[in-house]
Amino acid sequence: ESDASPWAGDEERVVESALRPHSLAEFVGQPKVARQLDLVLEGAKRRGRPPDHVLLSGPPGLGKTSLALIIGSELGTSVKITSGPAIERSGDLAAMLSNLAEGDVLFIDEIHRIARPAEELLYMAMEDFRVDVVVGKGPGATAIPLEISPFTLVGATTRAGLLTGPLRDRFGFVGQMEFYSTEDLQSVLRRSADLLGVAIDTAGSAEIASRSRGTPRIANRLLRRVRDYAEVRADGRITEPVARAALALYDVDELGLDRLDREVLHALVVKFNGGPVGVATLAVAVGEEPHTVEEVCEPFLVRAGLLARTPRGRVATEAAWAHLGLPVPEGLWL
Ligand code: ATP
Repeated sequence: ESDASPWAGDEERVVESALRPHSLAEFVGQPKVARQLDLVLEGAKRRGRPPDHVLLSGPPGLGKTSLALIIGSELGTSVKITSGPAIERSGDLAAMLSNLAEGDVLFIDEIHRIARPAEELLYMAMEDFRVDVVVGKGPGATAIPLEISPFTLVGATTRAGLLTGPLRDRFGFVGQMEFYSTEDLQSVLRRSADLLGVAIDTAGSAEIASRSRGTPRIANRLLRRVRDYAEVRADGRITEPVARAALALYDVDELGLDRLDREVLHALVVKFNGGPVGVATLAVAVGEEPHTVEEVCEPFLVRAGLLARTPRGRVATEAAWAHLGLPVPEGLWL
């Protein structure tokens, strides 16, 4: 969970999994990835063989975990879930792999953060469904080859470019997840509101969708906060004025930037005079990990036209000053 939004608690996560789509038909948006994946799965089903390994890349909260679970349910197999940082020793991975049943899906979230020895073990497992288990130490150590059942690896990463070449090459299909359109987010919201048993009108869902940063996870989270407001301060129905009032209360601005996004933007504009500044320096200025700033905040700030990545560092665009309500300095180089 690398989403930097301020209100992701355990309870929220339980609700989140209740809102997950369970089939490709229920999965809203991502027309390209969904169509491609549908074909990959259909082909595999006809041949009666597990499909090629699948890599899903894109910013957090766009539905990579949901898609991995859907792959399992479409194939009628079970999905084992782990993550790159959780695999500390290659022995752990070998044990996980040898416990897979034929056709199982192994989902590795944040696969770009897997340790190198485990990654090397994964190469052979992906290619030949075999792992070498090393027994003993030093000169007496022997590698015992171990057969594993044919399985499908589904890896998730924020950017395919973060993977080493050899690992990336072993995936037969790479799905690039895109931010969702406002219309698609409205569909996600309608479906979630139904599941939560709350009434929402079109203008209400449009208001929430346009502040959700193109991300279903954020849309669902905002929906739950707006629902609280609708039930406590209004008649329980989510309309545009209710959504507006609730989102103002929770400090979500018109573009949907949250506290961390605004801090990053503010530091870039005020502390560093609009840049260029390196991402590591920018991260220190807001007290965050560089990879959080880079993988969580920046993709949306870039998409919103507020920040640009240049070879010399990050720079703010004119729109960034305007968004913060500050006068654009003269002679801004962009
Ligand atoms: P992370 O990278 O942080 O693991 P993720 O990309 O795997 O995030 P998910 O956990 O799959 O994202 O999705 C987050 C939530 O968003 C889910 O609980 C689900 O309710 C909702 N969601 C995501 N995609 C869709 C979709 N296409 N249709 C409906 N709901 C969706």
